[in-house]
Amino acid sequence: MSELNHAEIVRLLGLSDPAEIEALRQAAFDLTTARLGDKVHYRGIVEFSNHCVLDCHYCGIRKSNRTVERYALDVEQVVDAALWCAASGYGSCVLQSGERRDARFIGFVEECVAEIRRRSVSATLPQGLGITLSVGEQSIDTYRRWRRAGAHRYLLRIETTNPALFARLHPPEQNFVSRLAALHDLRDSGYQVGTGVMIGVPGQTVDDLAADIGFFAGEEIDMIGMGPYLVSAGGAMAADGMMATQPLLSLACKMIAVTRLVLGDVNIAATTALQALVPDGRERGIAFGANVTMPNLTPAEFRKNYQLYDGKPCIDEGRAECRSCLEGRVLSAGRRVGWNEWGDSPHYGRRVDQEPS
Ligand code: SAM
Repeated sequence: MSELNHAEIVRLLGLSDPAEIEALRQAAFDLTTARLGDKVHYRGIVEFSNHCVLDCHYCGIRKSNRTVERYALDVEQVVDAALWCAASGYGSCVLQSGERRDARFIGFVEECVAEIRRRSVSATLPQGLGITLSVGEQSIDTYRRWRRAGAHRYLLRIETTNPALFARLHPPEQNFVSRLAALHDLRDSGYQVGTGVMIGVPGQTVDDLAADIGFFAGEEIDMIGMGPYLVSAGGAMAADGMMATQPLLSLACKMIAVTRLVLGDVNIAATTALQALVPDGRERGIAFGANVTMPNLTPAEFRKNYQLYDGKPCIDEGRAECRSCLEGRVLSAGRRVGWNEWGDSPHYGRRVDQEPS
């Protein structure tokens, strides 16, 4: 971990001189190569349901948005998407959905995970697909159950570490303290733990973002998934607008680069929201130090109903088109694809080695 202090992080996030931003980018890219090599790993994402019991103000699939057509894939559809992912050399998948905590949902996720692990084993993937879950806050017993079924990574964004801003972004029944406790439960359940924030949320400051990076370091987070906040017409914050494209892109790229410099060997995703902002957003994220990306595997007919924000890219694209387009993007960013590899966060291995047994 680098020794950058809060004030230095604030300064780097505020850079506006193109030559200084380029120097930051190069430093982050070089550190990524030195600590993680030159490969980008894929996690094929299956957005298996948009049913949600929560009402996050920023989100297009929040429960109060009555304009969304709700859907849920069945186990075979989820497993089929994951097996396509395995056969295509992706190495890992992510199962993501709106949030539910009922017994039926918990059992459904467990069955999907177990089936994917069992049926994706092959000569090229002797342990089967790596599986990341991104299905929100659950009880520690549920996390353990899904871990036993075969999931080994979990993404749960803290969204912002400023508790006052968190409270403005969520209804009162969702709170910062329980979100943080969920991250601790995930760590205690043996997952590689991923978190992240939205960048450029109305009311957020550069000081907040610098504190977010300090939080990632202090919490020993293994994986980072963060992206620009993009307005959603179906969210409750549409009237607040969003940052202009170029400053938002620049801020998001600087966040990736500074997070890399501070955290070193964690996995950092070049997220879909970056590509929604500008068509080459994922390449830019990779050029600034990201080493993971998440091709979309959701069957095309459902993608339009999983719009967390407006302007989601590749809504009409099939997964095969996604595959060929994305490799070109990775190569153009000066990286190779880590085909048929899990590409786990080296930080996780180090963290586990250091923990008392
Ligand atoms: N419900 C689960 C959770 O909260 O972790 C998983 C699904 S949730 C839709 C996934 C992520 O989408 C959230 O963590 C949030 O950061 C992101 N998201 C939602 N609305 C967004 C928006 N308008 N702009 C950018 N990201 C958004």
